Order: sequence, then structure tokens, then C-alpha cells
Amino acid sequence: MNPRLILFLLFCAAIVSATAALAQDKGSVDAKPLPPLANPNDPKLGAKELFGRKVLPAAMQTRVVGFYAKGCIAGAEALPIDGKTWQVMRLSRNRNWAHPDMVALLERLAAKAHKEAGWPGILIGDMSQPRGGPMFTGHASHQVGLDADIWLTPMPNRQLSRNEREEMSAVMMVRSDRLDIDPGVWTPNHLTVIRAAAQEPSVQRIFVNAAIKKALCREAKGDRSWLSKVRPMYGHDYHFHIRIKCPAGSGECEGQSPPSESEGCSAGDLAYWFKDSTIHPKPPKVPPKPKPPMTLAQMPAACRQVLAAPDAKQ
Ligand SMILES: [Zn+2]
Repeated sequence: MNPRLILFLLFCAAIVSATAALAQDKGSVDAKPLPPLANPNDPKLGAKELFGRKVLPAAMQTRVVGFYAKGCIAGAEALPIDGKTWQVMRLSRNRNWAHPDMVALLERLAAKAHKEAGWPGILIGDMSQPRGGPMFTGHASHQVGLDADIWLTPMPNRQLSRNEREEMSAVMMVRSDRLDIDPGVWTPNHLTVIRAAAQEPSVQRIFVNAAIKKALCREAKGDRSWLSKVRPMYGHDYHFHIRIKCPAGSGECEGQSPPSESEGCSAGDLAYWFKDSTIHPKPPKVPPKPKPPMTLAQMPAACRQVLAAPDAKQ
């Protein structure tokens, strides 16, 4: 895709959704480029303004810098927007970039979803920006090329149009009372796909809605050790989130301690998520002050180099 077109699409994505970029949020094929920054060196400027304007990865060796929610990546690779068993959604966001290990994992998982779950393939949501970093919309994490969102809606058996990739919605998997999955849409194949992802040795955590975790706990047969990697998380009603470990040789990558080995399936483990105060949180009496965005100075120093590097050749 040509870089000017991508900038144009990025601008559109930014105005369409100012606060969140969820699987069900739409993008647009008809967008304007992001305007240049008046003062790119303003120390208060959100780093998302800088990273969100990068259309291509840094021409550097692959390098993961920092933590999932505070970092960047050089030498990211794009997942091709079409594979035999996958399609990338919301192309206007230009977030189909990741560490090459993640790209390879998604390709493997797509093939498994086809072979083992009988899906035509998988739909891929947000991965990372070309140089990672914070984003204009959604996601505290996804900053270092080691996180990816997979839709819980199987890929249709045909190539989606550009417009469909922006407009099509994922299917809500959680029942309206939020206490369990919607049996009208949940299938054993959903477990097969999530299990295939969790059984990948490089995967550290998978985030799903608590109702989905409950269903996995109830339905998993045989080896259940993979369940420990699948963690309940707010949102994630329409997609699941895969996080991989720091790849070997990534000395600047800040990992996360592994999840406990417990399946996390006991009533006590899940109690918090199904409390009324969690499912229907009361709005705070005093609205919280909006947090200032993360600045470049707050990020690992090497992210400056990643930002300043020339564009990688395509
Ligand atoms: Zn995610």
C-alpha cells in the first residue's frame, strides 16, 4: 500500500474512534492523511502522535524494546493481508505489524484453525503499528510487536472486500446477562482455536472474556494444562488476545512473569469476574481526570532511535 494512502487511512481511523479500537469498531476506506505535527518536539506531546504517524518499520535489525504496554519495535514484519487461511481486518489502522515470531505464529495458527477446527481460516484484528508504540485508539499494550487480536468469528469462505474489512462486525460471544457464553454462537471449534493458540510454546498469555474462560473450563477435555495461559480480562467478548514471550536474543525486551500454573477454573478463581459490581460497575461519583498521554521521554530511551530511523524498504 502506498504510504500516503496509509496516512490518509490512519487519519480516518483516528477520527472514527477517539477512545477505543475494539474488534467491533469500524474503520473506513475513505480517509484523510494525518496532518503534520506543528511541534513534534513538544515534550508534552503524546508518543502516540509520533508512533501513529509512522507508516513503515524502522530500517534496523529486529529489536524489541521495553514492555508490552510501554515500548516499541524495530524491524517489524507485516502479516500479509491475505493468506490461504487468514485475512487481516481494519486495514485502515495499519496495525498488521509484529515481531517475525508473531507473524510466523499467526500463520501457523491460521493453518491449524483450518485443519483442526474446520474454519476456512481466521480473521486478524490489531497487531502493532509499524514501529509499535502507543496508539491513538484502544489498547494499552500491543506496543512491542508481541500482541495480536484474533476475532472469535471464523473467516468466511471468500475474500472480503476492502469495505467489508472496515465495516464488518465480529460476533458477540457473551450472553446478554454476561454470566456465560451465548450458546447460539459459541461452538466447540472456538475452544479448538483458542487451545491451539495456548498450546504454542511461545505464547505466554491469552486474554478472553470471563464468560469464555468459564466455557473453556467446562468444556476442555484431556490435557487441560493450556488453560493456565488463558486469563479472564475485561472486554474480549468478540476477539481473543494472544501475547508471546520475549523472543530469544531480545535483551531490551521486558518480559512478564509467567501466569500461575493453576487452570484458573475454580469458583473462587472466577468469582471476581461474575460479581455484580464487576459486571455492572457503578460510574464513579467524580469522573476521573483524564490521564495525560505517555510521552516519548517516559518510554525506553532506545525508542527514540527507533522513531528516528529511516523507513525500511518494502
Ligand atoms: Zn488485544
